[in-house]
Amino acid sequence: MQEKTVIVGAGVAGVNAATKLIDNNYKGKITIIDMGKSPHERLPEEVMTGFLGAGGWSDGKLTYHTSIGGQLAKYCGEDKAMELFDEVIANFKRFHPNPSEVQCSDPQEEPDFIKPYFGLRLFPVWHVGTDYLHEIGKNWYDFLVDNGVEFVWEHKVYDIDFDKKEVSLANHDFAGEIKYDKLIFGVGKSGIDFGKKLAEKYELPTEPKSVQIGVRFEAPQHHFQKLIDVSYDFKLYQKFEEKGVSLRSFCTNNNAAYVAVEDTYGNHSYNGHAKKDEAFRNDMTNFGILMEIKGIDKPFDWSREAVKKLQINNTGTFYSPSKRIPSMTSEGEFVKCVVVDSMDSLYDAIGDYALHIEDFIEDMKKVFPTLGNDWGIYMPEVKYLSPEPLVNYDDLSLTRFPNVHFVGDALSARGITVSGAQGTYVAESILINKEATEMEKNSTKPENIEF
Ligand SMILES: Cc1cc2nc3c(=O)[nH]c(=O)nc-3n(C[C@H](O)[C@H](O)[C@H](O)COP(=O)(O)OP(=O)(O)OC[C@H]3O[C@@H](n4cnc5c(N)ncnc54)[C@H](O)[C@@H]3O)c2cc1C
Repeated sequence: MQEKTVIVGAGVAGVNAATKLIDNNYKGKITIIDMGKSPHERLPEEVMTGFLGAGGWSDGKLTYHTSIGGQLAKYCGEDKAMELFDEVIANFKRFHPNPSEVQCSDPQEEPDFIKPYFGLRLFPVWHVGTDYLHEIGKNWYDFLVDNGVEFVWEHKVYDIDFDKKEVSLANHDFAGEIKYDKLIFGVGKSGIDFGKKLAEKYELPTEPKSVQIGVRFEAPQHHFQKLIDVSYDFKLYQKFEEKGVSLRSFCTNNNAAYVAVEDTYGNHSYNGHAKKDEAFRNDMTNFGILMEIKGIDKPFDWSREAVKKLQINNTGTFYSPSKRIPSMTSEGEFVKCVVVDSMDSLYDAIGDYALHIEDFIEDMKKVFPTLGNDWGIYMPEVKYLSPEPLVNYDDLSLTRFPNVHFVGDALSARGITVSGAQGTYVAESILINKEATEMEKNSTKPENIEF
């Protein structure tokens, strides 16, 4: 009988997994279920859902280092991780209408002028750009459909029975079940609450995570140009070991840089993306100032409470000391937020940890002397890291359910390359497993030989 692999989530992880299977002539049936839309129908405001998931509408910065973007090397080792990254980047180029446009920035040295206040993390990044991602998505999707992958769009998976090997899904006029032999669970950030629900239902053993919270900082690009010339996606870094706190600038966007609203659990938080097309140039820079806080009891609940406290009228907040106004999105609307006249709400939400963010901005003012008060912050930016389910390191399967594989942000990733690589890694294990089963079936039993 034909093996059935069901992938929940057509995000970066799920799509790379399916591609690996197809490229290797997988004989089973592949079904991908997603609550969003196909790349031909997905709307610009659908930031988190649909083909390639959050990655499809992201800035398309493909980081190329194992210390960034979440966990991979811990499962498969450094060399294998880099090999998997190469495959993911090759896929993005393969479906790109003009692959030579994908450029790599590879800063080598920390410039002296930032040294007294910040460290700079140096690693290579391939930059695709949001507008090209849409075209890549369409080409990639058509390739998978042409090769027999079945997509079920605009259906939400609301339950999974790991014992019966069955997913339950529904949309406005249909509810039903789909059986699987192998399940790849790649619901990304938009499905973290669902992953958490499953972890509770099956009492899955988990590894605790730290809090990752902060703000999205925005300013005219010229203030940062000196550093951008060294590193496009610069990562400024500060660490306060004794307090269990570290801060980093995160996901820098330049040239045609836009702030994006993320909707998770019905609350707004912020992120950013950059377009490649010159028509979108706004000469702005935005990046997250993200703080990692260790040692907080129930970090996931703590983060959610903090995010809730930063909502006014069902959206996040914006503060600028020089009364800058919130920016426009690339679709020409103001970024959804409520303007506030101080950072007090940040202190209310995360307590004195907010001081580290204020200090980080003060230090930037020293390093980038023209910056002054010419900036604004969108509050909050958050990376919800739900407890990571314990998985077998050789195939990312749940320790109690070996045919259920967790991948991408739903496991321990935080970026495109790591998510895609985890998907590819799982697909490899399915291919090896299948090969082993076929060999077992085909091998004739040796006759008993008596000595
Ligand atoms: C605005 C923005 C910009 C970003 N920029 C970058 C960047 O430049 N570089 C980088 O490395 N990372 C970036 N990221 C992060 C990156 O996009 C994610 O880490 C990556 O997409 C995670 O891949 P994934 O496959 O795990 O999940 P996703 O890509 O998020 O895909 C998950 C999919 O699952 C579907 N889904 C969820 N729940 C259900 C359900 N119950 N039923 C059915 N379907 C479901 C969703 O619709 C979605 O399509 C950005 C994220 C955002 C939001």
